[in-house]
Amino acid sequence: MKGRIHSTESFGTVDGPGVRYVVFFQGCPLRCKYCHNPDTWEYSGGHEVTAEELMREYDSYKEFLKTGGITATGGEPLAQPEFLAELFSLAKSKGVHTCLDTSAGVYSPAEHSKIDEVLKYTDLVMLDIKHIDPDGHKKLTGMGNSHILAFAEHIRDLGIPVWIRHVVVPGITDKYDELFRLGEYLSTLKNVKALDVLPYHDMAKPKYAELGIDYPLPDTPPLSKEAAIRAREIIISGIKSGLRKRI
Ligand code: SF4
Repeated sequence: MKGRIHSTESFGTVDGPGVRYVVFFQGCPLRCKYCHNPDTWEYSGGHEVTAEELMREYDSYKEFLKTGGITATGGEPLAQPEFLAELFSLAKSKGVHTCLDTSAGVYSPAEHSKIDEVLKYTDLVMLDIKHIDPDGHKKLTGMGNSHILAFAEHIRDLGIPVWIRHVVVPGITDKYDELFRLGEYLSTLKNVKALDVLPYHDMAKPKYAELGIDYPLPDTPPLSKEAAIRAREIIISGIKSGLRKRI
């Protein structure tokens, strides 16, 4: 079986625990306004590879990757579930740690058997929750969030550890109430192992210009690290409030 990928990175340090071999899948159903990788959007882009070819490349770096493993990111890796399941099952057969970095835009609560096949071989999920408000999520990404939250609850029920990532964008995802609500929601996910709150930046602007796509947030300033730290504190206070309510 062949999958369509954008590229690979041999020594990823921000895509899961340890140093990792990172596979960027091609194709994504979302159109996040702050996306750094618009070149991964089109399903017809990138190039084809087999899971064996990727694992051979992994093997050539494996001495450096002992503390890490393999991460599937994108684009949206779950948009190619059969190929991803083959890649992760091959990785697990070699004892390699697997991490799925997803926005879960393709998840359907009604039909998820193919995605469950991937999850069987997934050690860790890194899940982006882009906006807790359904309308806000739609404005930011082009899609509502009910199926994405359903995915979060599904992996909770399966007991798969998850790292949550949230990008704070001035004027879009920085409202106190929404950050607090996000925290309250996260308090229902007992499988959360980490919370990464990232400040929006606009370093992808030149990529958009190169691709001839209008940059979606031309007037939005980057967020300071301090503001992201404050946003994280609000989310944490929401988590605490949610936990207290259920005692
Ligand atoms: S889900 Fe990721 S790759 Fe897809 S548009 Fe959003 S940021 Fe970009």
